[in-house]
Amino acid sequence: MDCIDCKAKSCRKGGKTRICEINKEKTISEYKNEENQKIVQNAAILVDNGRAGTLSRIQELLEFIRLMKYQKIGLAYCYGLENLVSQLLPVFRKTGAEVVPVSCTFGGLLQDEVNQESRIHNVSCNPLSQAEKLNQEKVELTIVIGLCLGHDILLNRYLKSDVTTLLVKDRTVSHDVMKGISKLFLELNRQ
Ligand code: SF4
Repeated sequence: MDCIDCKAKSCRKGGKTRICEINKEKTISEYKNEENQKIVQNAAILVDNGRAGTLSRIQELLEFIRLMKYQKIGLAYCYGLENLVSQLLPVFRKTGAEVVPVSCTFGGLLQDEVNQESRIHNVSCNPLSQAEKLNQEKVELTIVIGLCLGHDILLNRYLKSDVTTLLVKDRTVSHDVMKGISKLFLELNRQ
């Protein structure tokens, strides 16, 4: 049994079943860590007291940056979305934070240098250098904007800052992942 199969949904009423035992004391003590409390409390401000569903994700993100008092934030963006990122830069700067945009092709490595199986001599996405640059800059929060699947995983693996994703790349549906899922369901229903 897993959470989808579970009929009891006891967790929804503060309970549990035999498969969802947790170490409650340890978990609550982790939440009490000052840094975690800061995130939990500021995240709650965005949705509690009837605010859930009233802010778009970008509005939430801008308010969260202010609430967290981040002094320096990084934008780990896909070069294909550079126009959008240029337009967003002043918006992020209005939060008062210093903003460091770093392109996915930072460092200019080629595909056959990054991928041992590749014979393609074109510029490559380079999430390791993107992360290294953001780490050197000591950004406190990295905002991921449109990175390719896989490159985003490596970036997350190497980053030392807090990380949140604003936009997931899906070229087939203007980066609207829900539309991609709906298209998949339609195709599956036709089979
Ligand atoms: S009660 Fe436990 S198993 Fe059931 S949905 Fe909640 S967490 Fe999952």
